Amino acid sequence: MDATPVTVLKGVGPRNAERLAGIGVQTVQDVLFHLPLRYQDRTRITPMGVLRAGDQTVVEGVVEAAEIRFGRRRSLLVQLADGSGSVTLRFFHFSAAQRANLTTGARLRCFGEVRTGPASLELVHPEYKPVAEGEPPEVEESLTPIYPTTEGMHQLAWRSMTEQALLLLEQQPEALPEWLPDELLKRFSLPELGAAVRYLHRPPPDASQQLLLERRHPAQRRLSFEELLAHQLSLRALRLRQRRATAPALAGNGRLRQQLLQQLPFRLTGAQQQVVGNIEHDLARDRPMMRLVQGDVGSGKTVVSALAVLQVLEAEHQAALMAPTELLAEQHLQSFRAWFEPLGLEVGWLTSRHKGKVRQQLLAAMAEGRVPLVVGTHALFQGDVAFRNLGLAIIDEQHRFGVHQRMALREKGTGKGGVPHQLIMTATPIPRTLAMTAYADLDVSVIDELPPGRTPVSTAAMPDTRRDEVIERVRAACSQGRQAYWVCTLIEESEALQCQAAEDTAAMLTEALPDLQVGLVHGRLKAMEKEQMMQRFKQGELQLLVATTVIEVGVDVPNASLMIIENPERLGLAQLHQLRGRVGRGATKSHCVLMYHPPLSSNARERLAVLRETGDGFIIAQKDLELRGPGEVLGTRQTGEMQFRIADLMRDQPLLPEVQQAADMLLQRYPERVQPLMRRWIGEKERYIDA
Ligand code: ADP
Ligand code: MG
Repeated sequence: MDATPVTVLKGVGPRNAERLAGIGVQTVQDVLFHLPLRYQDRTRITPMGVLRAGDQTVVEGVVEAAEIRFGRRRSLLVQLADGSGSVTLRFFHFSAAQRANLTTGARLRCFGEVRTGPASLELVHPEYKPVAEGEPPEVEESLTPIYPTTEGMHQLAWRSMTEQALLLLEQQPEALPEWLPDELLKRFSLPELGAAVRYLHRPPPDASQQLLLERRHPAQRRLSFEELLAHQLSLRALRLRQRRATAPALAGNGRLRQQLLQQLPFRLTGAQQQVVGNIEHDLARDRPMMRLVQGDVGSGKTVVSALAVLQVLEAEHQAALMAPTELLAEQHLQSFRAWFEPLGLEVGWLTSRHKGKVRQQLLAAMAEGRVPLVVGTHALFQGDVAFRNLGLAIIDEQHRFGVHQRMALREKGTGKGGVPHQLIMTATPIPRTLAMTAYADLDVSVIDELPPGRTPVSTAAMPDTRRDEVIERVRAACSQGRQAYWVCTLIEESEALQCQAAEDTAAMLTEALPDLQVGLVHGRLKAMEKEQMMQRFKQGELQLLVATTVIEVGVDVPNASLMIIENPERLGLAQLHQLRGRVGRGATKSHCVLMYHPPLSSNARERLAVLRETGDGFIIAQKDLELRGPGEVLGTRQTGEMQFRIADLMRDQPLLPEVQQAADMLLQRYPERVQPLMRRWIGEKERYIDA
């Protein structure tokens, strides 16, 4: 059925086929996997005496009274009774003909949602039709499915399509093969595929609507399970393929690393040493390292990556470091230049702004191996960029890069020497089970300790009606020699508006705080201007820095101890956590004020409360996951990866350990089922491997 086009179904012509293709439904199998959102129960007539608000139900009775009420809105009220009780039908829009039908004595069968009205239970705008006394109820045999749909495709069309698809399935069950072996189904108490699909499209009258709505019914579990399993297998296949490739073994002699460590004003934390050890070991092998380093904001990932780079340089290979934004890349450039120049090592700098001759010269130097380390943005991995012998590629802030980008990076390989080692650094901690699913192709190290001497940031939430007080706080802090950030956020899609808001705020604050030097950075400034502004802030020439979220990552000014975040309710928890990580880097107690615009939604209130209560990145990440869902947290929403048809990583988290076991079982005992399973669930584009 995965090869049978939807057009074999009656009622699906070219136009409908196009509409369906728009939502990814192309084959009969897609129709079967297009599951209802919810169900209506039209399988029985409910006595009015037992109705409860919230029920969706069929009732039948006789009209006892009908009248038009002229209240705030003109409405037609019809009193319907069946001997066990009564209910009011309420219509705001009605024709004269309708009115004529709904007169005293008429017998009606209605379907609708029961609500609590001013005087009694009501059905607002129910579906209804007149029936004769004793007319046999032509109710349905199963719960009525309501499908998610698209413009121009009605529920009746979906019902007809699924009816036909189910019939085909009944006639040729082998067309939708069961790839999960019996022992697996038994072990994890999963129903068979065909039965699960049939059940979900046409649940029997006694099915639990509650379980179905919460997507916890065994039939739904079965489908989520299979889909998650297919993704897991696909990532594992990718992992295997990567591990089969060769990479240059880069043990190094430790000379440069020793020099850097001696020059640092601090000692590595135990956690940093541990991770450095993992990387050291990986780089010395002739298999490509694929390691993800998770570490909270400020945990000191940069120096860990610097040690990895030096090991590679000791072994006479090149390294590249890519960051998602120019500003972050610049910060890295500064750190690395400060560390590497005393060692006599040059650091190259490449972004999309580098054009013409400068770019050509750098590219030539990279290709000839004259630049040992290049720092930059995506521009580093464009088509015409080549290295002589790239041994290590580092990506910072992984949550913005996905599997596909990781793959593209490998293509910049060292040619005969194999593919480069990869180190990925992220400040977005991810709960373990999720990491195992999302990053099954990577090894994970965690820096679970902050350098000593950090003081936790105390966080308060305040409505923007108290802006004056907040400005006063800024004045007080700065008059004591501290520095402050004022972060303007706006709807992310509009960078222009965001910059405008920052400019306005900077003007307002300059006026309100005439004694302070106020700076401004936003995305539309030239790199040079941004850099100068940051430098002036760093050197203490500016006391207050107004910024857009461009300072989210990487900025390091230990004397800044106050941060105001405007409209924090618009940002995700992880992003707020990262922003807040810009303060609390020095010895003085730091503060963060979340200046929200009331009223807050309950979800936003909850998010801000999490930030007030904890500074622990792992707890924040878990909450973020609960409140926003994994697509946002993993940053896959933008990249379009890890989009599941049926599964939901948040809801189905409890399944993940079982999915792991199932993947082991299939790979060991039923390897021939692996490819077809992946093919069923993972689209061409997203398929990470075609073996
Ligand atoms: P992140 O993990 O957020 O990228 P950074 O690498 O930017 O963190 O480190 C934050 C700050 O902590 C930097 O100023 C860095 O020099 C400093 N730092 C890193 N490791 C240590 C350490 N072991 N002891 C003290 N300070 C450290
Ligand atoms: Mg960092």
